[in-house]
Amino acid sequence: MSKPVRVRFAPSPTGPLHMGGVRTALYNYLFAKKNNGTFIIRIEDTDQTRFVPGAQDYIMESMKWCGIMPTEGPGIGGDFGPYVQSERKELYKPFAEQLVKDEKAYYAFDSATELENVREQAKQMGMPNWQYNSITRSSLRNSLTLPADEVQRLLDSNEPYVIRMKMPRNRDVRLNDIIRGWVVVNTNNLDDKVLFKSDGMPTYHLANVVDDYLMKISHVIRGEEWLPSAPLHYLLYEAFGWDCPEFAHLPLLLRPDGNGKLSKRDGDRLGFPVFPIDWHTSEGELYSGYREKGYHPAAFINMLAFLGWNPGTTQEIFSLEQLTEAFSLDRVSKAGAKFDADKTKWFQQHYLRTTPDIELAMELQGLTSKELSVEKLIEICRLMKERATFVSDILTEGNYLLEQPKVYDAEIISKKWKSETTEYMKDWLIEIEKLQEFTAHNIETAFKDFLASKSVGIGAVLLPFRLLVTGVGMGPGMFEIASFLGKEEVIGRMKSGLSSIESLVK
Ligand code: GLU
Repeated sequence: MSKPVRVRFAPSPTGPLHMGGVRTALYNYLFAKKNNGTFIIRIEDTDQTRFVPGAQDYIMESMKWCGIMPTEGPGIGGDFGPYVQSERKELYKPFAEQLVKDEKAYYAFDSATELENVREQAKQMGMPNWQYNSITRSSLRNSLTLPADEVQRLLDSNEPYVIRMKMPRNRDVRLNDIIRGWVVVNTNNLDDKVLFKSDGMPTYHLANVVDDYLMKISHVIRGEEWLPSAPLHYLLYEAFGWDCPEFAHLPLLLRPDGNGKLSKRDGDRLGFPVFPIDWHTSEGELYSGYREKGYHPAAFINMLAFLGWNPGTTQEIFSLEQLTEAFSLDRVSKAGAKFDADKTKWFQQHYLRTTPDIELAMELQGLTSKELSVEKLIEICRLMKERATFVSDILTEGNYLLEQPKVYDAEIISKKWKSETTEYMKDWLIEIEKLQEFTAHNIETAFKDFLASKSVGIGAVLLPFRLLVTGVGMGPGMFEIASFLGKEEVIGRMKSGLSSIESLVK
């Protein structure tokens, strides 16, 4: 029987969660749900120097907004907690010491200054990339070179030390990544990474492997930037005598032009957010988020799912449940995924159009200070949503449904308001006044009769009519707008529009 699927999203609280991080969380979530597994969040905060207050709450809130909540994690519970590494601090050291005992790791006493000097000397000898590794370790101050009693003395006298991995010499490490296939790295290219730091904290590598083991993680699904660390992690599992989880390294997210990684700074600079929700820095800067820009979380998630994965069909619109059904790691590509801001808007437009009018109306009620009945708001949504991207656009784009226009599109007036137009509009106004039932259908029939009686084409009259009533040259069906506004309002608007425009064209 295969092991139960347990996957984790393991962000470090070093700042707001980038959209790439949300995608990692999403793929973990989808993979867990698809395989009746468990999705866990673990906060990796062993690097105290990079800790940013508020980042953990931001991560949790972002995941909640996206609807991809884990079933184990801080504040959620689970049998494998605590789920914040700094709260597990005490448990890592015995693991590091076990490796020393088994001669897979060693104590290193070299001070920062000593290492700096060695590095400097190497640089002067033409070796700019000096490393603490299987060759250089033999001439440094560690438990492999110092006599045992000296090592004991240093430990007893609380001399600062780190524990380093004893990287084997000249071995090909072979690991089979679900997305990338076989990855082979020779250990001569790897250094003796620090596993345990002099401040008493494990490094990311040790804590990550120990926790994945203790939390019974079956698959490690994470960003490509962690691929270089995977051979070390593989060797750590081997050194402990543990089964290695399966690895899947997700492709990078690239800038829209394909030129390099999508970074934190790109977002607002290129005109779209790269964060799920707004982030306010302690310096008072704002990094904008999709939530505050008005995106529906389902649109955001749908867009993210396609950054690196495709279903193998032409279907593009997926709910979270449908994604869960369709998702598989086999269909995640190796190649970097280009972010496309227009496509993101397209997903959002789709979600807006398919959201029931009553739901949009309720949202709109919170956005306007005007007293409008739900029926009116539903009608406004019905008229405007085809032309909107965000819920708030319905009110801004459709402002003429709420109030009389204050300005009239000057370009349309200069191009389309002919000498006879005013006369046509005055005559059309007389027809409108005669109408009994002011329905879209009745207005349209009367309008067609009017065109016939004047022997003019629709273009010469409909656009001026729209301009008088709405102030602009485009919008939803004009007869529907007129019927929505009501006869009195339309007549009033036409009269004041005519007097404004007459003074303009004189
Ligand atoms: N803490 C790492 C990060 O910040 C996690 C890498 C992993 O998933 O192993 O992305």
